[in-house]
Amino acid sequence: MTDGKKTVTILGATGSIGASTLDLVERDPASFEIIALTAQRDVAGLAEIARRTGAKLAVIGNPDLYADLKAALAGSGTEAAAGPDAIVEAASRPVDWTMAAIVGSAGLRPVMAALKRGGTVALANKEALVSAGMLMTRAARLHGATMLPVDSEHNAIFQCFDHAAPDRVAKIILTASGGPFRTWTLEEMASVTPEQAVKHPNWSMGAKISVDSATLMNKGLELIEAHHLFPVGVDRLDVIVHPQSVVHSMVEYVDGSVLAQLGTPDMRTPIAHTLAWPERMATPGARLDLAAIGSLDFEAPDPARFPALDLARAALADGGARPAILNAANEAAVAAFLAGRIGFLDIASIVGKVLDRYSPAAPASLDDIFAIDAAARRGAEAVMEVLAA
Ligand code: NAD
Ligand code: MG
Repeated sequence: MTDGKKTVTILGATGSIGASTLDLVERDPASFEIIALTAQRDVAGLAEIARRTGAKLAVIGNPDLYADLKAALAGSGTEAAAGPDAIVEAASRPVDWTMAAIVGSAGLRPVMAALKRGGTVALANKEALVSAGMLMTRAARLHGATMLPVDSEHNAIFQCFDHAAPDRVAKIILTASGGPFRTWTLEEMASVTPEQAVKHPNWSMGAKISVDSATLMNKGLELIEAHHLFPVGVDRLDVIVHPQSVVHSMVEYVDGSVLAQLGTPDMRTPIAHTLAWPERMATPGARLDLAAIGSLDFEAPDPARFPALDLARAALADGGARPAILNAANEAAVAAFLAGRIGFLDIASIVGKVLDRYSPAAPASLDDIFAIDAAARRGAEAVMEVLAA
């Protein structure tokens, strides 16, 4: 804290979660002070946010853009830096609260640096936890960092979970919207375009997570995320489709009681929960109006049309390197889909093939994770070359 203000760093400041975080922080300049901001390519966006907030440091991930960032920040008083190591250095600077909102396993090194520095890490970057959950939770424990879940489902579970007596929890029930193709046939899904896939019915999000929500891989990654955040085995993790995205997730106790957290689909609510925790802070945005919504629907997910969910469940059950392979193969396949190189249904099939072909030893270090991640991406490329031939 400086001047009684909470000091804040935002990793992935130009993204969707970054923007929601900034919206909350900037509404209350008496309570928050921004230390560091990072982005990958958007120099103009990053410089504008840095000037607006008076951030001490702005880092652009792409090292070729250093001169552009320096020029854009001239006279602002914000220090400029560039490259992946500079992002890690930014994440290591002492602050009270870090938002980890880089997309993909690219966020792993920075989030580990933030955990090693201690303080509170608000985790949106689920891919890091999927790839290296054991290493991250161990680092948090060793360095006294507090990891708070931003993902709406895990934030809901965090609020309903009896952390003092986890053995009283019978199961965790993650809700899934079902995405834009919930009611589509497989034939219809075969010709889905990237534009259709990134249009989520309830949430406004970055492109990668929007595609993951459409394949339900997002829910698969979230099963693995839940396993690392809460001491609950894969057999006690359930998924239910709930198209309105009002019930954000549920915790069932041994006596049959089910606790749920509800709200409008607005990421500012879970972000605010982590920003103020253990207090509460007011947020803008629509309040939940259940009378206007009328009814809430639930249905079981369909494994035939959404095979990604079972792939993730199996990867979690097998453990070892498999969640990291699943994640990296999925990142490669989603990028290829967004680039128009493969079809929508190819995404899960590529991930399945990479998992079938590649079985490395369980990772013991971050370097092991990076090697597995790189090999799984090469594996996905090899499968895609065969597809294209
Ligand atoms: P986004 O694509 O809108 O933003 C991603 C951010 O990461 C940007 O600031 C970008 O510059 C940065 N970035 C991208 N590649 C990078 C790299 N290689 N190195 C360093 N920085 C890089 O994504 P988003 O929707 O804000 O999602 C961010 C994370 O939060 C993801 O892990 C996502 O799964 C998770 N999440 C998002 C939402 C949501 O509503 N958007 C909800 C739950 C969880
Ligand atoms: Mg989620």
